[in-house]
Amino acid sequence: MKKLKIAFVTSEATPWSKTGGLADVSGTLPHVIAELGHDVILFTPRYSSIDGKRHKLVRVSKVGIQKIKVGTSTYCFELLTIKKPGGPARVYFIDCPRLFDREALYVDPVTGKDYKDNDIRFIFFAGAVLRALETLDFRPDIIHANDWQAALLPVYLKTTEKSNSFFADTRTLLTIHNLGYHGMFRMARADNLGLDRSHFYSMAPLEFWGKINFLKGGIHYADIISTVSETYAREIQTTDDYGCGLEGVLRERRDALFGVINGVDYDVWSPEKDKLIEKNYSVATLRDKYANKRKLLSLSGLSPNRLEKPLIGMISRLADQKGFDLIEKIADKLFALNFTFILLGTGDQEYHELCQNLEEKYPDKIKVNLTFSNKLAHLIEAGADMFLMPSRYEPCGLNQLYSLRYGTVPIAHKTGGLADTIIDLDKDRRHSTGFLFKEYKGAALLKAVKRALKLYRNKRSWNALVKRGMKQDFSWSRSAQAYLDLYQKTLSS
Ligand code: ADP
Repeated sequence: MKKLKIAFVTSEATPWSKTGGLADVSGTLPHVIAELGHDVILFTPRYSSIDGKRHKLVRVSKVGIQKIKVGTSTYCFELLTIKKPGGPARVYFIDCPRLFDREALYVDPVTGKDYKDNDIRFIFFAGAVLRALETLDFRPDIIHANDWQAALLPVYLKTTEKSNSFFADTRTLLTIHNLGYHGMFRMARADNLGLDRSHFYSMAPLEFWGKINFLKGGIHYADIISTVSETYAREIQTTDDYGCGLEGVLRERRDALFGVINGVDYDVWSPEKDKLIEKNYSVATLRDKYANKRKLLSLSGLSPNRLEKPLIGMISRLADQKGFDLIEKIADKLFALNFTFILLGTGDQEYHELCQNLEEKYPDKIKVNLTFSNKLAHLIEAGADMFLMPSRYEPCGLNQLYSLRYGTVPIAHKTGGLADTIIDLDKDRRHSTGFLFKEYKGAALLKAVKRALKLYRNKRSWNALVKRGMKQDFSWSRSAQAYLDLYQKTLSS
């Protein structure tokens, strides 16, 4: 494979800025692709939280002070880079204090609402990345744009930059990590984008129910689009529930729409080296998993007599997406079964109440932790026998991947990334790694739990299932290879 030049564009990346999963992907994937021998550079805004001294940021003098016009205003930026970016990809920060020197990334902490100029900020960001690429004389084979904040890059490459010979051989991949956020703005602000009016007429590439929609524009113009699992890529073309109103546009681009599962950082999430758990273990020393179960039970104030009973763990945002409505519907039948349940999560008040009520009703077998605790999350992964993920939809999901590695058998709804990473016992016994239920119904969830509890009684079969899960590979290098295949596809399309 030819060495590719890739510009990875993202509005957040660990360890510098984070609101969600996009940051984790952006902090890891570019380095892993660079490790595979490609020339990767990452662009991200420099927010005020990114301390110049602490991160040893240095000015790229070659770029100097650049100007970008957005609407009737002109914004200046400088390019900063970092000596120790945490891996082989080069990292550049677009430094425009007027637009990015703010306490939070997208939402104004004072009003609790989106910053009023978010459109200007990310129109500027796209423009600044293009000018920075030219000044650095980095002609990318691929611009890998992420989410709505970078979705204008594919738009500009096919419109305002169409006759710019510098980008003549550049192709674009737009990855959607969260379809729930589109980047929508009032139509009255359309002039800021610098595109001709035909882009904003009813049904036009950037128009969505009378508003401007950045993500829709990106989906329309990107050479290739991806999301974070193959099943989710199919699901988002079906109904409004999955597609968030963009299902029709996604359907139009179905031949260019793919799914790539996120990777797991096995340096952080593996029972062999996890520093946050009671006792390390591996496939070869599976018995040591019990020490974690014992610790988890005692920490939860539950009787050590429950050690032999199956323990189901759950770590989740308490949100509509995550299937608590199903648990509520079948709670009496579910908790009449013989297992221990330990939950860790925070979120919506109504689910806090539901969980507290359940704990009050079944104090001997349920422990609910309504908090955020990374340490407890690791111990639950290590100490539980099974892991519950009844999500209504799940673009990728990480906890089921952690669970597999920790020998904690997932019980999950067959949707999105859950469907793509768990093989159901009844579907393919020899390769199975967990339990899936198809219909999003309480009865189906109940049946899946019963199937798991039944197999648990057969120690040999259970251990074989556990070990198959532990041997699965969802490392970043596997995901990086899948992205490289997509880049190739983009270049040959
Ligand atoms: P989502 O991104 O939709 O919340 P994922 O399964 O993809 O779901 O990722 C959730 C991540 O957040 C996991 O790493 C999980 O362990 C962590 N997490 C969620 N809630 C908590 C919590 N209350 N305490 C600790 N970690 C949590």
